[in-house]
Amino acid sequence: MAASCIFCQIVKGDVPSFKLLETELSLSFLDINPVSKGHALVIPKIHVEKMHELPDEYLRDILPIAKKIARAQGTKDYNILSNNGELAGQDVPHVHFHVIPKPNEEEGLG
Ligand code: 5GP
Ligand code: ZN
Repeated sequence: MAASCIFCQIVKGDVPSFKLLETELSLSFLDINPVSKGHALVIPKIHVEKMHELPDEYLRDILPIAKKIARAQGTKDYNILSNNGELAGQDVPHVHFHVIPKPNEEEGLG
């Protein structure tokens, strides 16, 4: 845990979040500044900055969670993405996966 990390504070429960799913290894919650309705984040419960530093067991936990969220959102199209490092657009230095629904106009979301 890193005391100054906003995602570690969310894991600890010191900062509120709209939680979606929680396992022993990971937590998912809605993004505070969504790019579309339902934009979610999936994070490991340990403080690791980038994906290549994350033990495989966490990745094995996180990907099925991202899949479940994508399915539950019900949109046909979506992005799963992870920014790693400042040059790649990572703002929060605690590895995370975005699940971003891409609704079309008929679905009326977004
Ligand atoms: P990054 O640019 O690091 O890939 O994405 C970080 C994401 O975390 C952004 O989409 C941002 O809106 C989200 N975020 C930052 N602080 C908080 C917070 O305190 N709560 C929640 N739910 N999301 C946050
Ligand atoms: Zn952290």
